[in-house]
Parts: sequence; C-alpha cells; structure tokens
Amino acid sequence: MAEAYKGPTQLMIGGQWVDGVRGQTIDVLNPFNATKITAIAEATEEDVDLAVAVAKAAFPAWAKMAAHDRGALMLKLADAIEARAEEFIALEALDTGHPVMDARRLDVPRTVLCFRYFGGMADKLQGDVLPVDAGFLNYVKREPIGVVGQIVPWNFPLMFTSWKLGPALAAGNTVVMKPSELTPLSTLRIAELALEVGFPPGVLNVVPGYGHTAGARIAEHPDIGKISFTGSTATGRSIVKASAGNLKKLQLELGGKGPNIVFEDANIPMAVGGSAFAIFHNQGQACIAGSRLMLHESIADAFLEKFIGLAKSIRLGDPLSAETELGPLTSKMHLDRVLAYCDVAVEQGGEILCGGKVPDDPALADGYFVEPTIVRAKATDQVSCEEVFGPFVVVTTFKDDEEALAEANNTAYGLGSGLWTNNLTRAHRFADGIHAGMVWINSYKRVHPASPFGGFGESGYGREMGFEAMREYTQPKSVWVNVDAQIPPFYQR
Ligand code: NAD
Repeated sequence: MAEAYKGPTQLMIGGQWVDGVRGQTIDVLNPFNATKITAIAEATEEDVDLAVAVAKAAFPAWAKMAAHDRGALMLKLADAIEARAEEFIALEALDTGHPVMDARRLDVPRTVLCFRYFGGMADKLQGDVLPVDAGFLNYVKREPIGVVGQIVPWNFPLMFTSWKLGPALAAGNTVVMKPSELTPLSTLRIAELALEVGFPPGVLNVVPGYGHTAGARIAEHPDIGKISFTGSTATGRSIVKASAGNLKKLQLELGGKGPNIVFEDANIPMAVGGSAFAIFHNQGQACIAGSRLMLHESIADAFLEKFIGLAKSIRLGDPLSAETELGPLTSKMHLDRVLAYCDVAVEQGGEILCGGKVPDDPALADGYFVEPTIVRAKATDQVSCEEVFGPFVVVTTFKDDEEALAEANNTAYGLGSGLWTNNLTRAHRFADGIHAGMVWINSYKRVHPASPFGGFGESGYGREMGFEAMREYTQPKSVWVNVDAQIPPFYQR
C-alpha cells in the first residue's frame, strides 16, 4: 500500500508543508492488514508553537474578512471534497477501517453537508440589540475568539474534522488542528484542498502528533483561546487541568454509554435494525453508540432471537470491498482492549450470546477484527458501566417504565440515548426524563449539522453543530452607547 498513497505526509503550517522540527515520523497503518500505508511527519511541542504563532498572525485579517467571503471559501471546500468523494471514501476506509459502504453513505456526504451548512452560516451570525435603560443603546456583537486548538480522535476523523473546522472558521477564528496519530490522512488532505481553494495561509494549520506531546502543548498553550476536543473522558480531564493556565474556553465531547430502550409496544423489526445500527455501525467506535440495550421483559426473547440473527449475518471484510458491513477496529491496541472487555464480561458472570472473539476467517486474520458481540450482563457489571467502544452491546431487561428510566440514567455519562415505542406520551416523558444531550425516538444516532451535538455529565460540555457551535466559537461583546440619557449622572460637578 505504501506506493498507492499519494497524499500529503507533512505538517501544514502557515500554508507550507514542513517536516517536524525534531525530524521524527509516525507510521500510519492499514487496520485491515496491519501494513504501513505511509509515514507522516510527527509534530511535537515546538511545531505546535510554530503553528500557533502563524495562526495568531493570520487571525486579524481572517476575522476582518467579510463573513460572506469566508463562507464562500467554505462552500468551495465543500465542492472540492464532493468532487473527490471516491478518493475520500477510499482514504477513510484505508486509514480507519470504515467500510466504503459507510463512508459513501455517511462520512463523505456528511462532511460536505457540514462545510456547506457552516459556509452558509458564516454571514448569518447576528448580534442583538437589547432593551436597556432609556437613552442608552446596547448592542451585542459576537466576536471570534482568536486561535483555537482542535483535537480530533480516530473514530470519525474526516467527519469530525468538518464538525470542528466548519463553525470555527465560519466564525472567523484561525485553527491549529491535531488529528489522531492513528488516522491523520483525511485531515491532511482537507488542509491541502483548503489551500487550493483559496484559504489564506495560516488560517488552517494541521499538526499530527501524539497526545502527550503535541496534544498536551495545545491544551496548555497560552495563545490558544479555546479548545475543542473529542476523545476519552480521561484525556478530557487532563485537558481541563492543562488549560487552566490561561483559562481557555473548552468544549469537550467525551465518552458515552448510550441507553437504547425497546418497549413492549415498539415496532420490533424497526427496533432490531435500528439497534444494530446503534451499536455495530463503525464497529461500535462511536461515543453515541447505543451500547446498553434495554428490553422490556415481555419482548426480550423474541427481540433477541432476531437481533442475534441479524448480528450473526453482518458481513465482515475488507473495508475497501463494497459488500463489507463491518470493518476492523482502528488499532491493535483498541482490539486488545475490546477483547479484554469480553473476558471481563464472562469473569463477572455475563453471558456472551454471540461474538466475543476474533472471527475464524483466515482472510481476516491480519486485521483488527472482532465479531459483533452481544452480552447479557447485570446492570452493575463493569461492561454495563464502562465505555467499550467496540461492536459490543450489553443487554438487560426491565419490567416497567419507572425501572427503565432509572436504569437509563444510572450512568455518569449522558450523551446519546434512544427509545422505541409507539406510545406518544411515553416517548415524550422519556425525552424529558433521560439525562442525555441527545434523544432519538424510534431512531438512533441521527446527526445533522443543524442540530446541537454534545453531552451531559461526564460526556463533556459545550456543543458541536448548529447555531450552538457558532456561539461556542465566538464571544459576546456588549457595547453601550449614551444616545440621549436622561438619568442623573454620577460625579458631575
Ligand atoms: P484519547 O482521548 O486518548 O485520544 C483522542 C485524541 O486526543 C487523540 O488525537 C489523541 O492524540 C489526543 N490526546 C491524547 N492524550 C492527550 C493529552 N494528554 N492532551 C491532549 N490531547 C491528547 O482516546 P484514545 O486513546 O484514542 O481512545 C481511548 C478511548 O477513548 C476509546 O476506547 C473510547 O472509549 C474513547 N474515545 C472516545 C471518542 C469519542 O468520540 N468520544 C473518540 C475516541 C476515543
């Protein structure tokens, strides 16, 4: 595969492709066969400092550029990605293990949609005029923050690049982005296209590197005004601490343990398919995955028979094959972690109803595969409480609504959640009662650039997407004008 990859391999700093200051590189592997796709330049602390300096220098002009011109550049970037859809589909499959079926249906079109949405949003960000004391005009404008640091994980690198760049750039910030050391390729290609379509040098800088070096430097950097981070709750905590020096704004998308509740009156075939999508899509590597399947006891057996049958029929294979429905996990380290959870499940008395192991197929032996795994476990077991982040779902049953709601909320997380019912009252009662940033009714894992995405509790704070994201990437400035004030002035002699 080394010869096949022709895309960028260096850091993008100030519109230039450069090697890292220390001259180190990171091998990028194909998770389907563990072969090296390419080696990319590794950014360390010094490179982050250089990137922040150029982003800071580029900020005043970018922030002053007419918002519709910034938006027009983003629309051009969306067109450029769309025109190269097949290239991005293959790249994401190669680098992350996403089946091309998924990348074609979701990753690439949603990336294009996101850049279009925020391209259109750039000149819609209005301020307010507020009713204050007579004789005073008070208006509030929203100003960009400056240099923002964006730290991207490996589970949806292309899509998350667009989720972060879209609102940040539309609002007039400049960016230092660190993709995951595991999956940097699509972000580097986006940076290349951004330059080609006319983004000024320095507005978007990309510094792939490890979390403890490049990532940690972004978190502590005194000239970065805001960080947007997606990844584990543990890393989120370390970013909170590291960011304290200059009190930078944070927006954190962390882990989840999404409850997916199926009631006795649900449309069962629809719920079976939707629940499989909730956990098996992207090999379960999604913070919003429906990883706790909660079934009403009266339908549990019938549901499980269909659900297990569906799980066993999922086609594992080469992500580049059009037939493949489930690819490999993105790294060997992660595969080992997911398999360790299969052992823990059994040690604690859980029952593996299907999967729980690497597939027997010799054609998949070099890839980081794990079979779709369904485990019956107690709600207090470790696998019911911790994020596994694989095609691994824990099943429990409940007897009534009260028990279901209490169980759904029995988690420190609060990101995605879903319920399947034809009872309108129950649906809305649960939508109100569930402690989570997102609730899907008779559906699961819907996302759209217009709708806020983020969590409650230890799933983080702040929101991506929609108008909420434009607020996240701006700060309000309240301006007071004495137009004709009639109130008695203080300290007038
Ligand atoms: P991680 O949180 O360590 O990595 C995510 C990103 O943060 C990467 O770009 C990484 O380089 C960077 N990073 C790591 N340490 C950092 C630090 N100290 N300062 C700044 N940046 C740092 O996640 P991981 O190790 O790749 O995965 C571990 C677990 O995290 C997964 O199994 C899963 O449970 C969770 N996870 C969640 C998401 C999500 O979408 N919420 C994404 C990836 C991983």
